Amino acid sequence: MSNTAVSHPRPHVIIVGCGFGGLEAARAMRKSDVDITIIDRTNHHLFQPLLYQVATAGLPAPSIAAPTRFLFREQRNVTVLMGEVVDIDAAARSVYFENGDRLGYDHLIVASGATHGYFGNDHWAPFAPGLKTLEDAFDIRRRVLLAFEHAERETDELAREPWLTFAVIGAGPTGVEMAGTMAEIARHTLPNEFRRIDSRKARVLLVEGADRVLLAFPPSLSKRAEEQLTSLGVEVLTSHKVTRIDADGIGVLVNGVEQTLVCKTVVWAAGVSASPLGKLLAKTCALSDDHLDRTGRIRVEPDLSLENRPEISVVGDLALAKSFEKNGDTKPVPGVSPGAKQMGRVAAANILARIAGKPTQAFRYKDYGALATIGRKSAVVEAEFPVIGKVRFSGLSAWLFWLFVHVYFLIGFRNRLIVLMDWAWAYGSFNRTARVVTGTEKFEARSERKL
Ligand SMILES: Cc1cc2nc3c(=O)[nH]c(=O)nc-3n(C[C@H](O)[C@H](O)[C@H](O)COP(=O)(O)OP(=O)(O)OC[C@H]3O[C@@H](n4cnc5c(N)ncnc54)[C@H](O)[C@@H]3O)c2cc1C
Repeated sequence: MSNTAVSHPRPHVIIVGCGFGGLEAARAMRKSDVDITIIDRTNHHLFQPLLYQVATAGLPAPSIAAPTRFLFREQRNVTVLMGEVVDIDAAARSVYFENGDRLGYDHLIVASGATHGYFGNDHWAPFAPGLKTLEDAFDIRRRVLLAFEHAERETDELAREPWLTFAVIGAGPTGVEMAGTMAEIARHTLPNEFRRIDSRKARVLLVEGADRVLLAFPPSLSKRAEEQLTSLGVEVLTSHKVTRIDADGIGVLVNGVEQTLVCKTVVWAAGVSASPLGKLLAKTCALSDDHLDRTGRIRVEPDLSLENRPEISVVGDLALAKSFEKNGDTKPVPGVSPGAKQMGRVAAANILARIAGKPTQAFRYKDYGALATIGRKSAVVEAEFPVIGKVRFSGLSAWLFWLFVHVYFLIGFRNRLIVLMDWAWAYGSFNRTARVVTGTEKFEARSERKL
């Protein structure tokens, strides 16, 4: 395919990535006189905040993902192309696909997000998968469920223990959610199903280098979250710095002393690394090194475009963006879905303003607060409400609020209904229904590991 052959009588906008930022940008231009091409390497938009539910067998994949093509079936100015963008040539105003195909643009929005980073220790990845895509969630689900299978088959008590020890590294919202739910599975979902092991004796370790969980939340909510995790049976190990991960477990530094946590199943929920397209953009736009931060995010201008390249905007987790407050202050924008969505809308509005020869607007982030669930009936919330202002709460009310918000923001009515029904069932029965895993290859490979 050489899309130079496809002519666009109207301004052609390419959006790379159909996550929260890309989706919102395309939707914001639905009534506009532009041709939009969305390029994504997957065929679906993914609701990442509920990915941990797929990883812990609570929800099936279609409940939290929807085909991109389906989402835009009625938006006639959108063409969806599945493929990976591997290069961008700012001078030629073109993006390049993995097979060398080229597609030209008048305006470009790069919304390719971020993934997990191992702080330069990429060799840890095979032993401690992170959670970013559906494939990651399937991999983690498989590892967790098959660890119980290994334990049931193991006759040596000592050799069984590592299979019944699960570690989650990083106590941000994802780590806290994963650890809380894994403890619930061990204590409530599985006990009646095994004969040789008592799944309730499984240990779930939440390993964090900082001195408290949920560092982005106020200390009072961190304390509440830790109490709720402990009551669910999670062992919270703060001030434990990870120094090594391999097939046999994790090395940690505690008060200057090296220790080993022996375990077979590790989930990585620490560290972020921006999409490599940030670096490519910096290169092709001849931007100096200080336009990229440590994680590879690229600095954007107040209107979300790149310096000297007004036709290129970057939004979402890949953008190192500031919020321009009414009082003249600036604040960093956090890597969360409301940030990506709001940036997507502003970048789209600014493209339309440029086309109309009007001035662009600076980005201002509206912060609605933060929430994290810990498990059944427990969550922590810090939210900004009209009239009453900022409120902090935890426990059942926070969990109900979390549930409402997540169901509300899910894509599509059918998904909302099905997720609600699945949760109601799981709540009443303690069962987690998405537990079917297929294939035996990895099971055999792991069982051959030396214990
Ligand atoms: C497990 C998890 C839980 C989270 N929980 C919350 C939460 O509770 N609340 C919250 O607000 N935020 C949460 N977040 C953060 C939130 O999901 C992100 O901030 C948000 O997804 C960022 O949106 P984005 O559009 O920048 O990127 P993404 O949503 O990550 O989308 C990027 C898209 O680009 C595509 N892509 C990437 N590279 C290429 C390429 N080279 N070519 C083509 N396509 C490409 C990807 O396939 C993807 O579809 C969570 C994130 C994770 C991983």
